[in-house]
Amino acid sequence: MVTAVPKERNAERENNENRVALTPEGVKRLKTLGVEEIIVETGAGEEAGFSDEDYTKAGAEISGSFTGVLEKANLVLRLNQPSEDEIKHLKKGSVHISFLDPYNNRDTVEALQAREIAAISMEMIPRTTRAQKMDALSSQASLAGYVTVIEAAHRINKIFPMMMTPAGTISPVRVFIIGAGVAGLQAIATAKRLGARVEAFDTRPVVEEQVASLGAKFVKLDLGETGQTKDGYAKALTEEQLALQQELMQEKCRTADIVITTAKLFGRKAPLLIPKKTIEAMKPGSVIVDLAVDTGGNVEGSKPGETVVINGVQIVGLANYPGEVAANASQMYSSNLINLISEFWNKESSSLVFPEDDDIVQGALITREGSIVHGGIKKHYGME
Ligand code: NAD
Repeated sequence: MVTAVPKERNAERENNENRVALTPEGVKRLKTLGVEEIIVETGAGEEAGFSDEDYTKAGAEISGSFTGVLEKANLVLRLNQPSEDEIKHLKKGSVHISFLDPYNNRDTVEALQAREIAAISMEMIPRTTRAQKMDALSSQASLAGYVTVIEAAHRINKIFPMMMTPAGTISPVRVFIIGAGVAGLQAIATAKRLGARVEAFDTRPVVEEQVASLGAKFVKLDLGETGQTKDGYAKALTEEQLALQQELMQEKCRTADIVITTAKLFGRKAPLLIPKKTIEAMKPGSVIVDLAVDTGGNVEGSKPGETVVINGVQIVGLANYPGEVAANASQMYSSNLINLISEFWNKESSSLVFPEDDDIVQGALITREGSIVHGGIKKHYGME
């Protein structure tokens, strides 16, 4: 069993990827499991804080010429989807585990299918209790939520906590967080720890209690019927509801110093929640951080990897939020992978075995033996 860990190349993020799929600690854990040969590309962990030497000490080999390594690997561990060129070098019948965004990357999925790869898509891991330890979407979103607040704190011209000084009292900064899923709740917790006055809104009413338990105020907006799917994701709003939400949130944005948007719709474009007219109503000096920027954006005009300024309001769109804390993001992703591998590791054959009737396999395995095997993806591609 040869496992390959390539250095991340990601054209979509303009090579702005500093995380690594497997940490040296992960190498040790895989070795304990019985994986014999682990080959890491030179410099793969460098930006996340792991040197080639760390990997060698943990028991991995380091290689510079990686196409040769991919050609013999039975298992490839990555964060981002592989490039067309990389797919050509994958060994037929091997297992490839990474984020794939299969709803939006049909070409990549079909290339993996043609190469007869068993491709696991990490964002498709079901959100069940058993799969929680493999849930990379959550582990990365949680760190991303933390990063949004730190980014805003760095850019705002105010301090977060209330401060009473002989020169007068400084009021706490006002933060409005839109979307209180995994990332939003972590953003709320981080902003509260820094001493901000925090309000939050989500279309899923069930999160009201979670928001309150973090000491923030849940903003109630009457948008008619909203709710969540059986998997816990938000249902998309109608155009009328979205227009109403934009209207009702304008006042909250106007009085906030910082607005953090984390509202996403799984596998689909994020809803536009802050139109230009809301930005124009905000105070100069305020900061908006758009976490949904890489799936279309919640804020009009936000761009991945850029800060756009409109009427003195900074609209921040980072290209890679969890990548800002690459050491911890890699640590958690690596752990998610090991947990997944451990679950499907077959000791006798020293290989990964994915039973067809397993709910995690059914949820996350996209291609196998030359076919697209995922029901939802086949339906999305119009194949059935
Ligand atoms: P997500 O990243 O898809 O969306 C982020 C948040 O945006 C969600 O809370 C969503 O309701 C919200 N949102 C969508 N449209 C909105 C709008 N127009 N206005 C305001 N908010 C909007 O979601 P996520 O954070 O990945 O997960 C969502 C939920 O899934 C979690 O809160 C949890 O209930 C569930 N979950 C369960 C498990 C598990 O059981 N193992 C693990 C992770 C998450």
